This record gives sequence, C-alpha cells and structure tokens, in this order.
Amino acid sequence: MTLNLAQYQHLAEELAPKNVTLVAVSKTKPVEDIKVLYDAGQRDFGENYVQELLEKQPVLPSDIRWHFIGHLQRNKVRSIAPFVHLIHGVDSYRLLNEIHKEALRAGRQIDCLLQMHIANEETKFGLDAAELAALWAQTTAQPLTGVRIRGMMGMASFTDNLAVVRAEFQHLHSLFVQYQSLAGYAAFDTLSMGMSADFRIAVESGSTLVRVGSLLFGAR
Ligand SMILES: *Cc1c(COP(=O)(O)O)cnc(C)c1O
Repeated sequence: MTLNLAQYQHLAEELAPKNVTLVAVSKTKPVEDIKVLYDAGQRDFGENYVQELLEKQPVLPSDIRWHFIGHLQRNKVRSIAPFVHLIHGVDSYRLLNEIHKEALRAGRQIDCLLQMHIANEETKFGLDAAELAALWAQTTAQPLTGVRIRGMMGMASFTDNLAVVRAEFQHLHSLFVQYQSLAGYAAFDTLSMGMSADFRIAVESGSTLVRVGSLLFGAR
C-alpha cells in the first residue's frame, strides 16, 4: 500500500471548511512520502516514536509542525522539546512537569493535550475523569509556565460498532466542553480525536483535529 495523493487532496478539501486540522500520521513511512504531502501543501505531521521523529525532523522542511502523538517517556522529552509543535499524549502531572522544565530549558512554551481514556479496552493510555480532575487541580495550584494545556486527545475503542465509537467521542467532547469553561482561556481550543477508520464520526462529535495515517500513506 502506498501514498494516496488524491485521497489527501479530497480529505484536505473536506476538512478545511469545517476548520478541522488534519494531522498526517507518518509513523513508519519514509521521508519521501512526507515530502510529497508537504509539496501538496500539508504542514502538520504526526509521529509516535521519538527516535523516528529525531531522524526525520532534520532532513525535512523546518516549517513542518510536528505533532507527537505516541506515549512519551519522560527521559525522551528533552530531545524533542526544541521543536515539537504539540504533544498529544500527556497523561500524568509528572510528564507535564517534565515538559514544562524542558520547555523552559529550550526557551519556549510547549503546547500539550491531556490524553483521556475513553475506550473500553485496557491497553489504551489516558486519564479517567477522576485523574483528570486531580491533574487539573494540581496544575491550577502550581501553574507550569513552560506548558500550555490546549485541550484533550482520545482514542475510541477498536470496534466495528459505530454507536460505541460515537458514544465515546461524544463523552470526550462533553469533558472537553466542561474543561473549556473551567479553563476560561481562549487557547483551550483543541480536541484531538478521530483516525482513518472513525474520523468522520469524530468530526460530527466535535473534533477539531484528526490524526489520519493509513488512509493517506497506505497500510503499515
Ligand atoms: C497510528 C496512530 C494514528 C493513525 O492511525 P490510522 O488508523 O493509520 O489513521 C492516529 N493516532 C494515534 C495515536 C496513532 O498511534
């Protein structure tokens, strides 16, 4: 399976009028494929593995916005802190604090999303509602000036049952709206949900950013 440029153009045209950001998930795919989408106008790319991101970033155009969408280990934060655009998978205060410290070291602020556990599978990372409330209380008590919490990210269950997927996305959207009013700042504006198989349901449920890989680049 290979890169599908026509699919990309179709998707970009579908999402733009809805103000939904398309992140092209390029994990395991060669820099040549990324360059083709870049030349077609794509600027937001998502990677899951720090090592792979560190190999690709220096050889690709510097105006690419790199989204880190994988599970980030604290000891890997420093290496991506100078350039990462948005870290989607923050699911602990310790990780958020580490990003804060490394952002200050790099002389910048780093935008982050809190990853919520919305699927019924055990394997997916993320916070539940109680953990979210605790983390929120902690960041309110001790503001971390190196990070900006821009919103939330989540993954629906891996199932053909679209009603389940829709219910999970709607649940995440309602949490997002709730914390948006708690945050009280306009920059809490990003809800990252939806992948190749379920991005349309996600957009209907209020997603502002979809992470699409295989539909664009072919199966991994
Ligand atoms: C791999 C991955 C995607 C893209 O998945 P596709 O099904 O290929 O679109 C999106 N989000 C995360 C967190 C991923 O790990």
